[in-house]
Amino acid sequence: TSFDELSISNDIKQALAGLKYHTPTDVQSQVIPQALDRRDLIVRSQTGSGKTASFGIPICDMVDWEENKPQALILTPTRELATQIKEDISNIGRFKRVKAAAIYGKSPFDRQKLELKQKTHVVVGTPGRILDHIQKETLLVDKIKYLVIDEADEMLNMGFIDQVESIIQELPQERATSMFSATIPADVESLCHKYMHDPVEIEV
Ligand code: AMP
Repeated sequence: TSFDELSISNDIKQALAGLKYHTPTDVQSQVIPQALDRRDLIVRSQTGSGKTASFGIPICDMVDWEENKPQALILTPTRELATQIKEDISNIGRFKRVKAAAIYGKSPFDRQKLELKQKTHVVVGTPGRILDHIQKETLLVDKIKYLVIDEADEMLNMGFIDQVESIIQELPQERATSMFSATIPADVESLCHKYMHDPVEIEV
């Protein structure tokens, strides 16, 4: 299969060609059609499988450019991952001019606050700082329709899972949720079943 067979807009296909992404990886060919159908997903996959684009492509496709408030939230355990994912989303969404922000701890809050006042379609960040911005209403989440929980097992190991749950409770119920993890520990599994509707399980 190729990206041409997927029902994604031409500006995104053009960006993928520019990135030399010609053929979807396994995880991409399984995840993208389900994500475009707004299904909840539990995906067992490793780093290096192309998982970032598997959620980045449908998110960029789904974003309504006119809406100023964030529409997608991606939670990830580290600042390095947040920065990398933000770059990938910006690259995939470059011809659609998708705006992404990376928001993480141990970095000035006020600068992030100013960044979040600008048009932002996609917010990528670590749980503690994201929760802080939600509680201070410097990150408005009432338009969030797509949540990604990336590296869920790592977030559990790092003690972030309660913060992840608190964030989920602040989000609109009318949303699609995708969870990516190398392993699915019991705490992650129960979080999924508590907050997802009839999730599709994918293993690559
Ligand atoms: P990830 O698993 O998301 O960290 O991606 C691993 C690497 O694969 C990254 O360097 C991506 O730029 C690259 N990549 C992702 N999807 C594709 C694709 N369909 N074709 C070629 N390279 C890709």
